[in-house]
Amino acid sequence: MNTKYNFHKLPENKSEYEEWMKTLARQELESNKSDVVTCICGLLYEIKYLYRCYFCGLWLCPACAKKHFGERPKGKYTYKEYFKENKRC
Ligand SMILES: [Zn+2]
Ligand SMILES: [Zn+2]
Repeated sequence: MNTKYNFHKLPENKSEYEEWMKTLARQELESNKSDVVTCICGLLYEIKYLYRCYFCGLWLCPACAKKHFGERPKGKYTYKEYFKENKRC
């Protein structure tokens, strides 16, 4: 992992807890002031492109969200099946 933030690791000590609190407070401030928020990776994004974690409350860009939430679960019926069925129309 090439970021400072350990993805979805629960704070285990005071300094980790404070780090999480600081990040949360900074993002809260940014989202109140404007619609641009800094992701945990340090990049700025418009809030409409970010995902908020239900558990820790952090805003995440698509790349970080993938690492934070894990791979998207696959259903039995996907785009592939749909495409196969509708190809001949
Ligand atoms: Zn990010
Ligand atoms: Zn989280």
